[in-house]
Amino acid sequence: MIDTHAHLQAAAFDADRDLAIARAFAAGLAGIIEVSIDAAGWPRALAVAELDPRIRLTAGIHPHDTGRAAPEDLDRLAENLNHPRVCAVGETGLDYFRDYAPSEAQQSFFRRHVRLACETGLPLVVHARTGPQGPPVHGDIFRIVREEGGGGVCGVRGVLHCFSGGLEEAREAASLGFCLGIGGAITYHPRQSGPLLATIAGELGPEVFVLETDCPWLPPQPHRGKRNEPAFVPLVAAALARYVGITVAEVERVTDASARKLFRLPGTDGI
Ligand SMILES: [Zn+2]
Ligand SMILES: [Zn+2]
Repeated sequence: MIDTHAHLQAAAFDADRDLAIARAFAAGLAGIIEVSIDAAGWPRALAVAELDPRIRLTAGIHPHDTGRAAPEDLDRLAENLNHPRVCAVGETGLDYFRDYAPSEAQQSFFRRHVRLACETGLPLVVHARTGPQGPPVHGDIFRIVREEGGGGVCGVRGVLHCFSGGLEEAREAASLGFCLGIGGAITYHPRQSGPLLATIAGELGPEVFVLETDCPWLPPQPHRGKRNEPAFVPLVAAALARYVGITVAEVERVTDASARKLFRLPGTDGI
């Protein structure tokens, strides 16, 4: 299994980062993608990647940070994308729920990330969270992806991490070559998540999914309320297998293949 979305650079791992990584590989993970959220944190992300060769990196500016990010941060980001361990552009996207940054700033930075993905040929790691009252944020996400690089312009692909949309959004994501990131949140409301994921898998195939933690946040049950870590990915795989009606081994095979294809991870012996 591959954790396609971890934030091991977070302070929550300062006391035992190396042990958390050891637990992940002992739990059977083949790789971890460490997701950057701002330019200032780049050295911390690099330090995480240096702890194990099976850890890959992304470089990006999280929508929450776009209000205080400087234009030079985008230049640094473009440089960081050249690093040999980088496999994606992000975390980027739009968050109208927390609203930590004005939506104009978020959209402008998201556009720049899509263009960078277009220029580098790297996939996008997209955070998409709808506001408390508004329509699904996915409308703005798909529009910007189409305008700046998707829909045949340069074929930008990516993942909607911590997928929060419905069947319509899943369909549109898949049509743009996007995977759906599935994490611990699917264990919180099984009566809603289960049927939706089964329907999506039935229509689009389970290969539309990739596994993730978004650690240290969003731990799967029975760890809700505590710190999440990559070693909990098998709990997400087990829940997804149950909902979709396939074996855990099949979830692992299919989601690993999708993650390897999307992020161009070589071979099957680690990443
Ligand atoms: Zn996110
Ligand atoms: Zn994240």
